[in-house]
Amino acid sequence: MKEFVSGYEAAFIPIYREAGLASWEANITGTDEAWARNEKASISYVNFFTDREAFAELKELKESGMVRDPLLARQLEIMYNQYLSGQVDTALLSQQVKMETEITKKYTTYRAVVNGREMSDNEVEDVLRNSLKSSELQAAWEGHKMIGPAVADDIIKLVKHRNTIAQQLGFSNYHQMSLELSGQDPEDVTEIFDELDSLTRDTFAGLKDEIDGYFAARYGISKDDLRPWHYQNRYFQEAPEIYAVDFDRYYENQDPVQLARAYYAGIGLPVDSILARSDLYEKPGKNQHAFSTDIDRAGDVRTLDNIRSDSYWMNTILHELGHGTYSYYNDMSLPFALRDAAHTFTTEAVANYFGRLATNPSWMNQMGIIDEKEMNRIADESNRAFRLQQLVFSRWAQVMYRFEKAMYENPDQDLNQLWWDMVEKYQMLDKPEGRDMPDWATKIHVALYPCYYHNYLLGELLASQFNAYIHSSVIKGDTDTDMKATGDFFRTSVFMPGARYQWNDMIEKATGEKLTAKYYAMQVIE
Ligand SMILES: [Zn+2]
Repeated sequence: MKEFVSGYEAAFIPIYREAGLASWEANITGTDEAWARNEKASISYVNFFTDREAFAELKELKESGMVRDPLLARQLEIMYNQYLSGQVDTALLSQQVKMETEITKKYTTYRAVVNGREMSDNEVEDVLRNSLKSSELQAAWEGHKMIGPAVADDIIKLVKHRNTIAQQLGFSNYHQMSLELSGQDPEDVTEIFDELDSLTRDTFAGLKDEIDGYFAARYGISKDDLRPWHYQNRYFQEAPEIYAVDFDRYYENQDPVQLARAYYAGIGLPVDSILARSDLYEKPGKNQHAFSTDIDRAGDVRTLDNIRSDSYWMNTILHELGHGTYSYYNDMSLPFALRDAAHTFTTEAVANYFGRLATNPSWMNQMGIIDEKEMNRIADESNRAFRLQQLVFSRWAQVMYRFEKAMYENPDQDLNQLWWDMVEKYQMLDKPEGRDMPDWATKIHVALYPCYYHNYLLGELLASQFNAYIHSSVIKGDTDTDMKATGDFFRTSVFMPGARYQWNDMIEKATGEKLTAKYYAMQVIE
């Protein structure tokens, strides 16, 4: 195993590094040359794990049961899964890429036609957010949903194709394979989703009634006449702004980068060398979103942003630097394969923990953005807005997780009905009378970002678990000492362990408990 690891590191580190650098270059410049380099690097990366001899060697090591040293055993587990996903028949794999490309094209070129006029997704969202007329809302919602019949059959074929691949690798279906190869047991994830469902159901029902009251008044109709197009969003995945606090106002004259720099320095996790390598502001050709990347797992950590002085970008830079510090403050004595997050959702959790601070009145006061009087004035409304947003999102994530799981278990069932069963049960929206359309196929993640959505919610749960642990066991009431203690907690209990433990063991060692929905529920329920 030791020999395998040194061969792996010698061959893979340069490929990993080139993939990171090429993607960085492409995302900040957007030039054709940079994208071509990026494509080449991604292909080398994927091809690396198709090596059949290397996989056979790992399989033999695994089956021998003789790799008992904890660090070597953990590397074996991670590498085995990496190579296993590369052992698919290449013809099946290129067929899958072809199918995905075709579907991508259909989504990209589709425009809703509403009363004879073409509309982009943004225009549909605009109508849903701003129109007060039920007929206009319904037309926009139904127009957008017409992408469903255009892609549904292709998606079912793709789902079955993905299942064939999974079965070839020894899994019962693609959903099970995706979770297991990422180190998640589907039963554990379902258990957490069940726990969260039962903890939030009643509170959500109460809030949903409040939301319905708000919308009934907004549209001048009765609650019974509300339909899915009345919720200001194509999927009811975001909360309506019932308790709007205008956070942007507070950031108009602030510099989010300086605030983030000062905050991270204050908790003893300075980010100067991350910021020095980062690309922080808008420019032509550049990716308009944000991400953080660990180029070499040896200190070259960067973040791409398009920062403006508003609350969205304050949240985003804190979020990306959460990912960034997780990478930067890893334990350099660990072998390369373990100098990584315990799971993608654990790094999302850290990023969410810090991102949430941007709209947290006590943090804003501590950072000198608002005074104590203003902090007290907006405390309740901010908290209500946070709870509403989280509850609405968590119910929507339930729909996505359970629909995908059931779809991969049996793609031949009545998926149109399955979708609305989930929507009615978890989001408590009523299916429009007699509707029998593939509305599930209108959500691009179902087709193209499969079996990943649950990680967004797990990230929120863990962010709340970290928050609860920090409040009960890390901080003592003196601001300066508490900030340092918070940074220390993350560095020693979350960042330094890297991927040396399975994610749930890391969480248990860090917080004294395995991942639980309990603290998230406590935070979002009054
Ligand atoms: Zn993130």
